[in-house]
Amino acid sequence: MTALTAEVGNTHLHIVVADITTLDVDAIVNAANSALRGGGGVDGAIHRAAGPELLEECRTLGGCDTGSAKITRGYRLKARHVIHAVGPVWHGGTQNEEALLASCYRTALDLAAAHRLTSIAFPAISTGVYRFPPDLAARIAVGTVASEVAAQPRGMAAVTFCCFSEESAEHHKEAFAELGLV
Ligand code: ADP
Repeated sequence: MTALTAEVGNTHLHIVVADITTLDVDAIVNAANSALRGGGGVDGAIHRAAGPELLEECRTLGGCDTGSAKITRGYRLKARHVIHAVGPVWHGGTQNEEALLASCYRTALDLAAAHRLTSIAFPAISTGVYRFPPDLAARIAVGTVASEVAAQPRGMAAVTFCCFSEESAEHHKEAFAELGLV
């Protein structure tokens, strides 16, 4: 299932094509909206697989700012936790979208470290209904994760980029190559 693996320090970075709700990791990241009340795309899939308790916990969190993230339990998922990250809607790149997307990845890694989690899987945040260009999003995702785990080892053993299509995986593979990871 693993399409490609690279190592940065003690952390394995994987690219896979999979349904993120099936992954057995400490945390899967959700591409949530700021209300944290569920939605379509990967958000809907995660809520369906986790069961209604997930929405109940989300309702207690008071929403989440764009570029930030909040953590919940994983309920019926194999993943022990869900980190709900709110990506930016793409407006042509004029509204700080790149920095906000990078911030999602950084905040999610920080939250995972604060909870002593050692494996995390990300979907391609903002590349669905939020329309972020998928090649640029992959470069930001891989670049941010690689520099964060290199600069600040957090005891993260594995970070998975969970792509939902071969095309998305290709964008991530290109980003690995551009950054000299493979
Ligand atoms: P956003 O609103 O942040 O754009 P979407 O859920 O619309 O979020 O899409 C984000 C990415 O998640 C897209 O690349 C989409 O193909 C992908 N995706 C959708 N369902 C799943 C899933 N079950 N597992 C992994 N990725 C998924």
